Amino acid sequence: MNSTPEAQVVVAVDGTSGSGKSSTCRGVADRLGLRYLDTGAQFRAMTWWMLREGVDIHDADAVAAVAEKPTIVSGTDPLDPTIEVDGVDVATEIRTEAVTGSVSPVSTVPQVRARLLELQRRIIDGGGIVVEGRDIGSVVWPQAEVKLYLTADPAARALRRAAEEGGTDVAATERVLAERDRIDSGRATAPLTMADGAVHVDTTFHSLHEVIDQVVQLVERAAR
Ligand code: C5P
Repeated sequence: MNSTPEAQVVVAVDGTSGSGKSSTCRGVADRLGLRYLDTGAQFRAMTWWMLREGVDIHDADAVAAVAEKPTIVSGTDPLDPTIEVDGVDVATEIRTEAVTGSVSPVSTVPQVRARLLELQRRIIDGGGIVVEGRDIGSVVWPQAEVKLYLTADPAARALRRAAEEGGTDVAATERVLAERDRIDSGRATAPLTMADGAVHVDTTFHSLHEVIDQVVQLVERAAR
């Protein structure tokens, strides 16, 4: 049982694609004994299911009509976060190019967001969790004790992401990231935005270790 002052806090982490959110959030949650929720994985899981069912992901009505169907379950251990759709482990499948290229259009559909919002709030309830996404501090949990907005220069983001994915075409990776940011920031429902009260952290010139240290300090200060 985690009985530290941080045990109940909610840490909301939003920001652009490839800004270091996942590594930062997992590292912070692990250091502080908190749970971790990757909401991007839930949108990816929904997208994986839509593609498998043959839904036209550019037809918002078709996407909306089936958004209630898949059962999505997220595991919240920061050292082993899991994601299942209808009982199937899809952790690998949701990182494919096909899913990455389709997730932003699916995420613009209000019925998809409403469905996942309910799931996210049920998991966050009770606190003691670091949550990453695009709209956590603004829409999902505006009352979070700590809100962060992570960014990094586009070239740095593309380099990191290409290295993670084992890709060599950094310019192509940069284009894909920019396109996702464009759709995520421009959508009508819950766009990517810096929430009121969020602390902006630019990770371009900082190591992962430095960013984790900085965030841990912010959380400890907020909890005391
Ligand atoms: O975080 P990740 O890059 O895995 O997120 C994949 C996509 O899911 C984002 O580009 C965005 O379209 C969507 N997303 C969202 N709201 C969130 C988390 C992710 O719209 N809270």
